[in-house]
Amino acid sequence: MARVQQRLAANAAGPFYVDRSCIDCGTCWQFDPAHFAPTGETSCVHHQPQGEAELRQALLALQACPVAAIGTSRELLAHTPADGFPALVDSRPEGDVYYCGWASRKSFGASSWLIVRRRGDGSANNVLIDSPRWSGALARQIAALGGIQRILLSHRDDVADHAAWARHFGCERWIHAADASVAPEAEHQLEGTEPVALDADLQLIPTPGHTPGSLVVLFAGQVLFSGDHLWWGVDPPAVVASRRYCWWNWEEQLRSVEKLLDLDVRWLLPGHGRRKAFGAGEWRGELERALNGARESLRR
Ligand code: SF4
Repeated sequence: MARVQQRLAANAAGPFYVDRSCIDCGTCWQFDPAHFAPTGETSCVHHQPQGEAELRQALLALQACPVAAIGTSRELLAHTPADGFPALVDSRPEGDVYYCGWASRKSFGASSWLIVRRRGDGSANNVLIDSPRWSGALARQIAALGGIQRILLSHRDDVADHAAWARHFGCERWIHAADASVAPEAEHQLEGTEPVALDADLQLIPTPGHTPGSLVVLFAGQVLFSGDHLWWGVDPPAVVASRRYCWWNWEEQLRSVEKLLDLDVRWLLPGHGRRKAFGAGEWRGELERALNGARESLRR
């Protein structure tokens, strides 16, 4: 629960504020950049929401915060939507993609994503990528969309409450064997570095580097759930493979980035960092730019 006595001075005057317990995970400003922004060491409210739609967005950012560092008045809190998450990001013939919100402190506020799709017989064939914190309210919303049939874990850092979600929906989990010590009960452990097709429109691509067992998930050939392997940065705006946040092997991570050059990615949906939509043919150029910058850092 945020405390008004610990309200940060950087907040704009008004009812919404970030307090000193902020861990600078980026969840609020990635989801609601109109009202939240990074300050360097924390985040703050840079603009108070005006009107119903903006209030809803700010209240959902508050709900998504993994450490309850965002506060507002009781009167405004009473307007928090019960059906805000999962929030639709992309809709295509193969299925709908949602952001789950409800970030977890256990994964430092990493984003998790839900693909809602159907099998030929009409039954649900939904996939959760990485884990939000456990929330009964979110579980009810997901149940209304058909539940979860599979959980895919991108790497060891973003597993959060996977066990609670798997138990609740009775679904199977996938993780790479090299990161499986954090989820030894996962029903499937991927080996090696070759891509694995779980369905015609769903592929796991091992991308070791950030951690030894990092993998990315490719949906419909165009939606890339990248865990912490890659994300979209803002300063400068570019695809980022981060040496600073590489926990295992940087050269290996760059080789894993090269593996993705020939894809036709239209959505980059990471664990940390900003999401980004690409136009046709933009991906390769952006990824080459990221690789060139990263190789430069290897020479320094
Ligand atoms: S979501 Fe919460 S912890 Fe994360 S940056 Fe925003 S205020 Fe800080």
